[in-house]
Amino acid sequence: MKLSQMPYEHIDLDKVKAFFEQLIADSKNAASDEEQFELHKKYYEFMGDVSTNIRLGRFRHDIDTSEEFYSKENEYIDEIGPVISNLNNEYSKVLFESPYRAYLEEKISKVAFKNIELANKSIDEKILPLMQEENALISKYDKLIASAKIPFNGEELNISLLRKYLTDKDRDTRKRAWKALSEYFLSVTDQIDDIYDQLVKNRTKQAKKLGYDNYVELGYNRMMRNAYRRAEVENFRKQVKESFVPFVVKIQQERKEQIGVEELKYYDNDMFFKDGNPAPTGTPEEIMKAGQQMYAELSPETKEFFDFMIENELFDVLGRKTKKAGGYMDFLPKYKSPIIFANFNGTSGDVDVITHECGHAFQGYVTRNDEITEHNNLTMETAEIHSMSMEYFTYGWMDRFFGDRSQDYLKMHLQDSITFIPYGCMVDEFQHIVYDNPDMTPAERKNVWKELEKTYRPWLDFDGDPFFSEGGFWQKQGHIFWQPFYYIDYVLASVVAMEFKVWMDKDFNEAWKHYLQLCNLSAKDFYENELAEAGLESPFKADTVKNLVEELKKKI
Ligand SMILES: [Zn+2]
Repeated sequence: MKLSQMPYEHIDLDKVKAFFEQLIADSKNAASDEEQFELHKKYYEFMGDVSTNIRLGRFRHDIDTSEEFYSKENEYIDEIGPVISNLNNEYSKVLFESPYRAYLEEKISKVAFKNIELANKSIDEKILPLMQEENALISKYDKLIASAKIPFNGEELNISLLRKYLTDKDRDTRKRAWKALSEYFLSVTDQIDDIYDQLVKNRTKQAKKLGYDNYVELGYNRMMRNAYRRAEVENFRKQVKESFVPFVVKIQQERKEQIGVEELKYYDNDMFFKDGNPAPTGTPEEIMKAGQQMYAELSPETKEFFDFMIENELFDVLGRKTKKAGGYMDFLPKYKSPIIFANFNGTSGDVDVITHECGHAFQGYVTRNDEITEHNNLTMETAEIHSMSMEYFTYGWMDRFFGDRSQDYLKMHLQDSITFIPYGCMVDEFQHIVYDNPDMTPAERKNVWKELEKTYRPWLDFDGDPFFSEGGFWQKQGHIFWQPFYYIDYVLASVVAMEFKVWMDKDFNEAWKHYLQLCNLSAKDFYENELAEAGLESPFKADTVKNLVEELKKKI
């Protein structure tokens, strides 16, 4: 069915409550394992409809935030969301304590039950007021960032409009743009420090009330870290320091020559070429057309997927004034359809929608007939493998998007992806230090970041900038505020995607076959088991990172 024709239904919360009440009672009284699983299937169907309406309502609001009906629906969904989560949680406890647990684990997966355990350790009625306060603090940060009015070239720009000047091919322009950004952050840095200080203290209080020593362990549980914990992550970061950092230092040397400067400054950081970073050559329609041809040639599975997306008009990618910023993929269980939201703006980011977001959507599409909903409760380090690997699997088609600058694009993509690895680890280590020491002052936190910069990005020269050189950079990284310890996921996924890159360069078909296998595994098994099954090395294993860097060196 076409996205525009999918009927939307206002969710009747009383009906939802009544459904769960009945379901919980029936489940507690189930007379056999099969009976309990049959009841669980009713839950799939009911929640499939509910979440389809929630996602459709949000999507229609996002594509036109000025539209009245869906604005109201969106507010309503904000309101009922926590209530429905709570009902879900209550029901999951019944499953967890079921006498037929072994049978259910077999049917649904051990992973799902581990997740229920972690979820139950993460929430309790007594911390609800703190959680509400936490949400309010996050919104306060978001509003502050979104409402930025930055004077530049006689105009007042928000951060997203300023962004294109940060990578302007004219060095003086981008220097002024970074200066303007720095001045903005300097003007609000005390406010951001205050918000973050409250967030750290709030989260620490939540952890203590739940019986944890500090927030780190609780943060891991909230991220559904069901297969690895702090020790593994620490070991991974150590490997990155040893292997990736010296490699990235060399790449920076090369980038310096590419952009033709004597000394690399922070305002050169996202620049890759003297004549500017490559941008797609075609119109949005041409980009979509090229995408369709590309997926038709890549594999029968991707052809079927992309044709389905086009035929059912499941993309909304053109930038419009009243559209929400950003881009994402979602999935509508009732119609077994992925949907993609984006704002094309003429940069290489438009092509990321066709590669990265479509990688997520493709995975949703290949597992769309799996009746066990829990199989698709992907944790982020896994979900991002699907998308980031697709960026590499589509390398061979980039001339369709970037014309004669396709080689530049590929070089930029690889250099950028590699350079990201130490940065992502730095964001992660920073947060561990912060939540281990919740009583640090804002100045001490900035010092921590400043020190980490020396370890993870020793090449970066902030040129004495009063905001960036004083350990302020993290204040523009939203994830640090939204969801602690969410960020290393991108790094872990990126490492595995690079493994695929190395593999496909040796044997494209073999690599593709295993990629498909990994997509089909969804979240049926634990992270490292799935990697092993798909023939990939776990990033936590000794030497994985080192060996990967050796392989990548041959490509740069
Ligand atoms: Zn993604």
